[in-house]
Amino acid sequence: MATVVYPSPIFGPIHSRRLGVSLGINLLPGDGKVCSFDCLYCECGLNRERVPHNPFPTRAEVREALETRLQDMLQNGPAPDVLTFAGNGEPTCHPEFAGIVDDAICLRDKYFPKAQVSVLSNSTFILRDSVFEALKRVDCNILKLDTVNPAYIQRVNCPRGHYDVNALVQRMKAFEGHCIIQTLFMKGTDFEGVSVDNTGDEYVLPWLETVKAIAPQKVMIYTIDRETPCPTLQKASHEELDRIKQLLIDNGIDASASY
Ligand code: SF4
Repeated sequence: MATVVYPSPIFGPIHSRRLGVSLGINLLPGDGKVCSFDCLYCECGLNRERVPHNPFPTRAEVREALETRLQDMLQNGPAPDVLTFAGNGEPTCHPEFAGIVDDAICLRDKYFPKAQVSVLSNSTFILRDSVFEALKRVDCNILKLDTVNPAYIQRVNCPRGHYDVNALVQRMKAFEGHCIIQTLFMKGTDFEGVSVDNTGDEYVLPWLETVKAIAPQKVMIYTIDRETPCPTLQKASHEELDRIKQLLIDNGIDASASY
């Protein structure tokens, strides 16, 4: 299994398919994964295989490490296009997430005012007011919504606690357009041989109606890119992603596809 965990609290920069030159901010421990989902396609591996022993980095540690790295990038390059909260799990589960976002915005303004601050989130903590308000302050509030089918979510995203997709969709609407929906389409089967293909109309059309109701600034669709913990997953094809992207565009929604 060639899944990866990232250093903490800062990693990269890496060249992201979707974001450009991206400096990663990893609010999870550097020796494992912490996530409220346990997606079959997670490039960090399954939660039980990546139990961390180190603590979360503190707000002060993140701020210091980020400032040191930005000073180095200012002197030696490259200039980041984006500071991205991502890494070994779900960034918004960090207890000091809101304050750390404010620090990152402050440091961005000081060193690279043209860079964007992005958060890649699985959306499970947006019902928490401090997280919701912090996400309103970032440039790119990128929220995962792979489907609106509860059975598929349980089978593929494997939430680790109570998960109510309708409640989360209502909260996504409350961003009033200040969000980007990210959706992973794929094919193949899960560990039990059950199809996980969400590229057909049975999944795409209800999802599309929900996305229209959320009215995000953009939708990013993509497919698996690296090795996954479940080896029987398969990439969605270019044609399938292009078809879904075109459906979005035909409905007046800005969309991009990464293959
Ligand atoms: S939400 Fe992201 S980090 Fe969490 S399990 Fe899924 S892919 Fe991995």
